[in-house]
Amino acid sequence: MRAVVFENYGRFPSLKDVPKPEPGPGEVLLRVAGAGACHSDISVYRHFREGQPGAQKPPFVLGHENSGWVEALGEGVSERVEVGGAYLVYGPTGCGHCRRCARGQDTYCENAATMPYMAVGLGRDGGMAEYMTVPAHHLVPLGDADPVEAAPLSDAGLTPYHAIKEALPHLEGGGRHALVIGLGGLGQIGVQILRALTGATVVATDIKEEARAEAESYGAITVGAGERQVEQIREATGGRGVDAAFDFVGATPTITTAAAVMAQGGRLTVVGIAGGTHQFSFFTNPYESYVTSTYWGALGELWEVVDMYRAGQIRPEVERFSMDEALEAYRKLEEGKVFGRAVVVP
Ligand code: NAD
Ligand code: ZN
Repeated sequence: MRAVVFENYGRFPSLKDVPKPEPGPGEVLLRVAGAGACHSDISVYRHFREGQPGAQKPPFVLGHENSGWVEALGEGVSERVEVGGAYLVYGPTGCGHCRRCARGQDTYCENAATMPYMAVGLGRDGGMAEYMTVPAHHLVPLGDADPVEAAPLSDAGLTPYHAIKEALPHLEGGGRHALVIGLGGLGQIGVQILRALTGATVVATDIKEEARAEAESYGAITVGAGERQVEQIREATGGRGVDAAFDFVGATPTITTAAAVMAQGGRLTVVGIAGGTHQFSFFTNPYESYVTSTYWGALGELWEVVDMYRAGQIRPEVERFSMDEALEAYRKLEEGKVFGRAVVVP
């Protein structure tokens, strides 16, 4: 079968023929419906090097944002898993035997340091292929929902959902403001989740005008990049600042912007992995404000994201690419030319 393979650190992926996988005990074989191209993959193949935090040893098939139809059940898999049924894949893959994994929070597996991979498409073979194998308990049923459009939910939906849920105490009550920086795959769904879960006014910013226009269609007030950005964001909050900020870029300039507009007691969550830094001091940060990071989300939260999607509260904007065009999807993503999320449909 054909697959998009990350072959070595620093090298652009290749489209190759690889053996069709077989499901191990407790796993299923999935015929892939859609595989989202996440910006993190660019860090995986361009920036990470052996031994660095976050680096996953090549070679493996990319694609950590997947959906598909169950083709076959591995040994010991319950017949409650429906052969032919459409499912979304929870990607993080922990040891399955620690207290974090017991809570469906494989992202923070206590044995992560001794695991050979982090997730499907991140160390173990992912979904940029015709078939993939997945632990059966990591499947979330999609029912009759379109699995291609749903594919981005497994990361571009789940990651902002988890970040926003953790910040909800900051957004409760009237007159609250949230800030979203970076309106790509994650940010656009983030805006929709904020609108659905909170009464906060959502202020959003991106360097691209068409991305800002899309966020406005979801109910955000937008601000452009440029010199007056900080001032304009503050103005949009009536001068008080934002109660929760979500930085889906994570570069030093974007973290600096977010930090400059925080309200007293606010929470700034860095989601983007551009590796920017932030200086903290008693005098420069608002009293009792928080700066935190976050990684993906929990299995139970993915069920909630699917509920929101099926209820029409969130909708990923999807640009479809065939397997022949899969590398083109990554090229366009690198050039900032993808609108919404690029999904490879094998
Ligand atoms: P994307 O390429 O789809 O979108 C990025 C958006 O940010 C684009 O619209 C771009 O125009 C905008 N942008 C870039 N620089 C900007 C700046 N200086 N100011 C304002 N906007 C700017 O990326 P994505 O797939 O949505 O991923 C976003 C980030 O989140 C990436 O760093 C990715 O690696 C990371 N990520 C983190 C997690 C996690 O668990 N923490 C999970 C998935 C992705
Ligand atoms: Zn990702």
